[in-house]
Order: sequence, then C-alpha cells, then structure tokens
Amino acid sequence: MKQVIQALGTKLAHDQISDNDTVRELHSKDETYQQTSLPDIVVFPKSTEDVTHIMEVAQKYQTPVTPFGVGTSLEGHVIPYKNGITIDFSLMNQILEIKEGDLLVRVQPGVTREQLNKELKKYGLFFTVDPGANATLGGMAATNASGTTTVKYGVMRDQVRDMEVVLADGSVIHTGNLAAKSASGYHLNGLFIGSEGTLGCFTELTLQVYGIPEHIVAARATFPSLTNAIEAVTSILHAGIPIARVEFVDGASVEQINKFSETDYPVKPTLFLEFHGNESGLQEDLAFSKEIMQDHGCDHFNSETDNAARNRLWDARHNLAYAYIHDYVGKKMMLTDVAVPISELANSVIYAGEELKKLAIPGGILGHVGDGNFHSLIMIDMENEEEVKKAKQFNEKVVQYALERGGTCTGEHGIGVGKKPYQRAEHGAALDVMTNIKKALDPNNILNPTKIVDIDNEDKL
Ligand SMILES: Cc1cc2nc3c(=O)[nH]c(=O)nc-3n(C[C@H](O)[C@H](O)[C@H](O)COP(=O)(O)OP(=O)(O)OC[C@H]3O[C@@H](n4cnc5c(N)ncnc54)[C@H](O)[C@@H]3O)c2cc1C
Repeated sequence: MKQVIQALGTKLAHDQISDNDTVRELHSKDETYQQTSLPDIVVFPKSTEDVTHIMEVAQKYQTPVTPFGVGTSLEGHVIPYKNGITIDFSLMNQILEIKEGDLLVRVQPGVTREQLNKELKKYGLFFTVDPGANATLGGMAATNASGTTTVKYGVMRDQVRDMEVVLADGSVIHTGNLAAKSASGYHLNGLFIGSEGTLGCFTELTLQVYGIPEHIVAARATFPSLTNAIEAVTSILHAGIPIARVEFVDGASVEQINKFSETDYPVKPTLFLEFHGNESGLQEDLAFSKEIMQDHGCDHFNSETDNAARNRLWDARHNLAYAYIHDYVGKKMMLTDVAVPISELANSVIYAGEELKKLAIPGGILGHVGDGNFHSLIMIDMENEEEVKKAKQFNEKVVQYALERGGTCTGEHGIGVGKKPYQRAEHGAALDVMTNIKKALDPNNILNPTKIVDIDNEDKL
C-alpha cells in the first residue's frame, strides 16, 4: 500500500489521500446488517483525470477499487471486502450545466438528488428519482435506483442520456448522447447503469429533467386490510389513471411514522398517493381514484393541495426507514426488495405479511406498490444468532416466492453481496453472460470485486 500511496501522490494532493482510521471506518459499511470491512485508503478525486490516474495506479499494483457515493446502499455494495482503495466522489459535486431548453442537466457524480432539485427549482424543473435517502446521482445510477415517482416517470435507467465512464484500465468513454432516442450500437447506458461500481467509475452524467407540474395533489387513504389496499392499487392502474405516486405502508409502519414524525395518522394499512397535472384533469383523476378506492373498502380519504402539507406527508413517508432505525437503537435493518408482476402483488404482500408475523421480529411492510415492488423491513439483533438466521430464511422465502412468479429478487436496491445468492436462480445461463462481460471489461477483477458476480473463489464470501 505504501507504493500505491506514493504512486497516487505523484498526481493527487496530500489531502486527497487518507489512511486515517476514522475515514476508513466511515467507508467500511452501509446502512444495514452486512458484515463490515475496511479499505486500506480512501481517495477523494476532483476530476476525471484524477480518477484515470487512480485506476492506472490500481491496475499497476493490482489493487481493488470501490467507488463510493454517500454509502446509503443496502446490500453491502460499498463494503470493500478485498480492502484496497475506496474512491469517495464527494469532491466531484458540481452541477456543470443546466440545458433548460433540452430539459437536460449535466452533473458530476457526487451531486446529491436534493442538491440537484434545490438548483433545478430556480428553473421550474425537477429531477424525478427519489430514493428514501439523499443519495448521490453517481450512486443512484450505479444501483439503477428508483423511488416513489417511478410509477409515472420511470427508474434511473429511464433518466440517463449519457455518462462519462473511466474504465478499469483508466481509459474514458461516453455511453450515450444527448438525443431523446437512439438506435445506435449496444445500449451501454443500460449496461453501466446498475453495474454497482463493478464495470467502471462514472465521472459525469447527463440526466433528463421535467417541468414542475402545474398542479399537484397528495392524498392518504386507509383500508381495513392489506389486501383491500393492494387491490385498490391494481384497479387504479388497470383504469389507466396516470398516478404519479402510490405507496403502501402497513399498520405497524404507520405507528412508526406517527412516533417519529409526530403525526396522528390512523394505524391501518394506508396508501400515500400523488397526482400531477392541470387542475381540471387532476380533479377528475382524484375523484375517479377515490371512487375506486371506496369500492375496495377505503374508510378514510384525505387530500392535500397545500405545498407545506404535501411536503409534510411525503417527508413522513420518506423518513420511515429512519423512524425504525431511531426506535430500535442497537439493531440492524434488513430489507427485502422483491418486485413482481402487478397481478401477483396482492398475494405476494399477503404471503410476506404472514411470514413476517411468524417471525416475531419487529418490522413492517411498505412499498412502491405501483411498480409491484415492496419491502419487508425488519430490525434484527445481530448478537442473536437465531434471530439473524430466521431473518435470512425469511428473506430467502420472500425472494423464492417472487422468483417463482416471474419477479426479481431486487426491484431497486441492487445486488451488492446480499442478493448474490439468488442470481443463478433468477438469471440462469444469462448470469454466465454477465460474468463474461465483467471479465471483458475488468480482466483483473479490481473494480468492486465480490459484488454482483463471482469471478474467482475468493469472491465467494
Ligand atoms: C433510508 C433509505 C431509503 C432508501 N430508499 C431507497 C429507494 O426508495 N429506492 C432505491 O432505489 N434505493 C433506496 N435506498 C438505497 C440507496 O439510497 C440507493 O441504492 C442509492 O442509489 C445509493 O446511492 P449512494 O450515493 O448512497 O451510493 P453508495 O451507497 O455510496 O454506492 C452504491 C453503489 O454505487 C457505486 N458507485 C457509487 N458512486 C459511483 C460512481 N461514481 N461510479 C460508479 N459506481 C459508483 C458503489 O460502488 C456502490 O456499488 C434507500 C436507502 C436508505 C438508507
């Protein structure tokens, strides 16, 4: 490592390279139960040239490299199990260009989604993807993140027009262009987005943004049962109502929201909804949705047009994971993240709910149900081996149930190390194609090794 630090120091400033114990510790973990592991050093590039230099040095000394945004991923993505260099992108946090006329923005990877939206607001624009944490756009692209508005606007893959990527050998490529559509060549945006730092380091992103809708209405609806709530969502989608957000939260989780956000929402299966559009169309959508929900037993419906009230409602929903973390000090969070075809959603959520009850571990069910994606969130005591084992078995059962119905083990959080055991079952022979792509782009396996695919036996943790 001494030689690596010396070689890095030929182009990076002293304060861009850290072997400080606290800094290493901060880069040894994510926000969940995954086993931690320390990087040897953390480097802070300021430019694409810095990243190229880091990759060239890493290649020369065969040192593993783990890209790092703000470390909010949930499956051990940023944990450097083979140690080496962690590249922290926090100093590459400039919004480089807002192309208002094209509805495009060019950013460095360390820009966070809240930072971007604060700037875009001045132009009457917004960026749609909103994971529950204030993640970086580099991290969000690397995990193909999505959020509450995905049902209307899509996931990260739908927003990225182009990326500048530094490959494992230090060379620099662009993955796309600025046009709204293209039939040119292989879909490299699609390949690199969701690659979790295993294929290259993103140093610039060009993203699609939208005009802030003329009118927005948020709503909260409660139901006697989880089944009623989920079936209401399915009916709303079938009716073709262009809903912008539809989030499910079970009774246990509403209780956590009330404690953390000082709200007094009825402790029942609840949908949080939002509609975007012009005033008259939106009133029709709202009335039609309300009617559908009442057909499914909705017993309380409350809508908000006022900006502050809407923000309060969505802040409460966004802070849900933190509400659990805050209430169960010393415990670690485990989240299932399956997505299923919409026709399988109600039964999948019911199945997960029943299995969760049997577990007798604190937790709840929530989800971006408009996309068929839901999470069982459980707070586990990592000192209690039996509890950890039961929690992992629960995760496995939920994944297996989803895969048997044509779903996926992860709708949005990604694979990291947590979802690696399910890759063969989900992808079959296609996993070998993915492994070959990794070998072609990173033949020495230095980019975030141990994640997504196993290249050698040492990758099998
Ligand atoms: C409370 C909470 C709620 C969440 N809710 C959601 C949600 O609703 N939807 C969702 O999708 N996720 C959610 N997440 C997960 C997480 O926020 C996302 O996965 C997010 O995209 C990670 O971004 P990050 O900046 O923290 O990246 P990190 O965690 O730092 O990194 C994530 C991955 O990206 C790679 N990476 C980072 N930067 C780069 C780069 N410049 N180039 C190449 N690779 C890079 C890393 O190596 C790693 O593999 C949630 C997390 C928390 C804690």
